[in-house]
Amino acid sequence: MTEQRYRSHTDSIYGELDVPTVVNAAGTKTRIGGSLIRDEALEAMHSAASAFVELGDLQAAASDRISEVTGAEAGYVTSGAAAGLCLCAAAAIAGHDVAAMDQLPDTEGLPGEILMPRTHRTGYDHALRTAGATIVDVGTNDLHLGTGSTSVEPWELESNITDETAAIAYIEKSYTEPPLDVVADIAHDHDIPVIVDAAAELPPRSNFSRFIDQGADMVVFSGGKGIRGPQTTGIVAGKQEYIESIAMQHLDMHVAEAAWSPPKRLVDLDNFAGVPRQGIGRPMKVGKEELAGLISALDAFLAEEQSETQREWQRRADDIAHGLEDAGFETHVTGGSDVSVAPEVVVDVDSSSETTALELVRRLRAENPRVYLGGDKLDEGIVVANPMCLTDEEADYVVDRIVANVEN
Ligand SMILES: *Cc1c(COP(=O)(O)O)cnc(C)c1O
Repeated sequence: MTEQRYRSHTDSIYGELDVPTVVNAAGTKTRIGGSLIRDEALEAMHSAASAFVELGDLQAAASDRISEVTGAEAGYVTSGAAAGLCLCAAAAIAGHDVAAMDQLPDTEGLPGEILMPRTHRTGYDHALRTAGATIVDVGTNDLHLGTGSTSVEPWELESNITDETAAIAYIEKSYTEPPLDVVADIAHDHDIPVIVDAAAELPPRSNFSRFIDQGADMVVFSGGKGIRGPQTTGIVAGKQEYIESIAMQHLDMHVAEAAWSPPKRLVDLDNFAGVPRQGIGRPMKVGKEELAGLISALDAFLAEEQSETQREWQRRADDIAHGLEDAGFETHVTGGSDVSVAPEVVVDVDSSSETTALELVRRLRAENPRVYLGGDKLDEGIVVANPMCLTDEEADYVVDRIVANVEN
């Protein structure tokens, strides 16, 4: 069975190109292809390729669907969550001012700062800076370092808001603070929006509305992770005024103003002094195929029996853990928080074998097919196996390859 699957990998386009495939025990990681796109999405993409359509019309249809699912006023499909973050920043900075849209990423004379609790900073912040924003760190790293009981106080965020502030950016994990509703209240007292990066926080499905309910003005999700839509898609859900600004900075703007009538529920031209030129979002375009694929994937994700998927992941994680324990590894299974539900198998390689976690990960990645384990904790001697992107056969294969590549 396992053999067969790998033979079919070799028979695929990847075999033709002589590119090794990956058995993915690392979860939804973009650099190894994210997730496997749903059949429903592929079919929709195929169908979308058969006719022309106005992208604004399709975005408006996507907006209706996103709004229904998230409870937000409107929504927009971007070329990924990172592109979504860039567009959210652009919307926060430029608002409905077409001259400001034209000026970005130059923020001279515009509010160009985005506040972030220091402990929320990630490499994806570059996407906010791409719009021209300067990130202002607030707070300390006390909680992580064990040098204090809080990292960011609400008053600290508030005292950093000035005329230069365009937004507050926030990332939600089970341990982030201050709570989102508190941050949103502070932002709204000063008439600025909160942007939430929830790229990888699906499932659970309840997170679609969770951050909007807590007061976020714009929330981004990745379309190519848990939703299993096209890799190059993301979702922004949020207030109408920001989605409208995003649309004006993202849609192709080579339009004759007098002849252009986008759906009013997406863009109300009465809110703008004219049409801007090609905006900051133009290099991040989304095709009709990706848009259709994302909408179909979203519907399929919603129709899926979530508890069943969850049970399947849990069982597969437990199987991996037992297989490795039988071979003498120390393991434990994490997961199940309400923000992030996917379980993961944490394997203490350094204390269970002569081979280091780093060496193990290197060896497995050099095999054909490559075997990918989560390697974010190699310095602690730990590898992590994630069940989300594996079949049961592949899970057995991963256990076999781990055991075969360590010396005891
Ligand atoms: C994956 C991820 C992103 C980027 O998502 P894309 O859809 O690949 O652009 C941004 N932020 C976080 C926290 C992520 O995990």
